[in-house]
Amino acid sequence: MKNQLLITALAFPLLSQIGVAQQLPGGDPKLTEIWKPVPAVVVPGRNTAPPSDAIVLFNGKDLSEWQGEDGGPAKWKVSGGAFTVVRGTGNIGTRRSFGDCQIHVEWQTPSKVKGEGQGRGNSGVFLQARYEVQVLDSYKNPTYSNGQAASIYKQFIPLVNASRKAGEWQMYDIVFRAPRFAVNGTVLTPAYMTVFHNGVLVQDHAELKGQTVFIGPPFYEKHNLREPLVLQNHGDAVKYRNIWIREL
Ligand code: MG
Repeated sequence: MKNQLLITALAFPLLSQIGVAQQLPGGDPKLTEIWKPVPAVVVPGRNTAPPSDAIVLFNGKDLSEWQGEDGGPAKWKVSGGAFTVVRGTGNIGTRRSFGDCQIHVEWQTPSKVKGEGQGRGNSGVFLQARYEVQVLDSYKNPTYSNGQAASIYKQFIPLVNASRKAGEWQMYDIVFRAPRFAVNGTVLTPAYMTVFHNGVLVQDHAELKGQTVFIGPPFYEKHNLREPLVLQNHGDAVKYRNIWIREL
């Protein structure tokens, strides 16, 4: 018996050391091992470079993955490996459409701080052209909390304000689950969003109340399972770079 205890202690040193109540029933431990499916191997990017299975939506050189609201070429300005909102040219959206996905996007509000509240470095990342994660200079810039950077606009206040100063690159990593609709338009499952702002969790599996609206309560309107990603032109010269997406 003494030997058996010793063997148990050797075989499960951690459990023994921390004094966890041990349950070691008889039987085959292999019965609870799951070997299939084997997760696909993905080579992660260094720092924030795209992983091997991502769709790169901006390669630093051109806006070929994007279009204007009229379906023509996106008219925002590309330079120095980034692109900038050009006032008066409308929003831009991806030529491809996406459903459930993981998105990485880097953005920067103008280093020359101008305006206040919603008028300072405003843009937005619209999942499926409808559900906005707000882009705003929220570094020492009070506004309504459900409209500051990393809010799900007018729906969810970010858990914290992880904003960097204007003129510094910031990033969002977003996990989005697209809503599902019945044929008659009823919502079967709502949209869900998890957001990291500069690596900090700011939205934790938020259940969206509907599409983003400026006035009045949000509501759902039936749409395709896949829709484009849209970046908002709010007139401020916000920059973007390194945008990639992984379909889930
Ligand atoms: Mg906005």
